[in-house]
Amino acid sequence: MFAWGDAPEYVLNAPQLLHPTLQFKRQPTRLAAGQLIGTEGYTAATAGGWLAGTNAARLVLGLEPLTLPVTTMTGALIEFISSASPKHFQPMPPNLGILPDLQRIRNKQERYAAYRDRALADLTAMIASGCESNRFKIASLHA
Ligand SMILES: Cc1cc2nc3c(=O)[nH]c(=O)nc-3n(C[C@H](O)[C@H](O)[C@H](O)COP(=O)(O)OP(=O)(O)OC[C@H]3O[C@@H](n4cnc5c(N)ncnc54)[C@H](O)[C@@H]3O)c2cc1C
Repeated sequence: MFAWGDAPEYVLNAPQLLHPTLQFKRQPTRLAAGQLIGTEGYTAATAGGWLAGTNAARLVLGLEPLTLPVTTMTGALIEFISSASPKHFQPMPPNLGILPDLQRIRNKQERYAAYRDRALADLTAMIASGCESNRFKIASLHA
């Protein structure tokens, strides 16, 4: 159930225990966030806390919990922690290496802008669709 972590003493084995909505697989009305689930850093803890809190509220309202597009940094990080190998699971900070590949762009500023634009486009599409769980329907990944 636990794996050795970095700064925290131990973290939940998220790939074994959590859905990408941050609900526990065996108790979907319970959710987890923060470094306890294997994300590293202040911003990742804040973003995960936002998602878990939003999904808790959506469950209370009878709405489908959200899964963020994997082209966003939060979506990619949560996809990583919830789908990694449970045997070799290690905490992960936000980083560009976990985002789905982009077409090769040499200029760094242009590359970062392309990551941003793709994420914003996918979030906009998700919101326009009524925030359905659209992890597998992200247009930019399948174009
Ligand atoms: C030395 C150090 C330096 C770091 N520097 C950076 C940095 O520069 N940039 C960066 O992004 N990240 C940094 N981090 C990582 C960052 O601090 C964590 O990723 C982040 O704080 C995790 O937030 P969290 O809310 O998940 O956990 P925490 O910030 O640990 O908050 C958990 C809270 O829960 C409380 N708690 C625990 N058990 C219970 C209980 N049973 N009942 C009630 N309350 C409880 C704790 O007291 C604590 O207040 C650093 C970490 C360390 C240790």
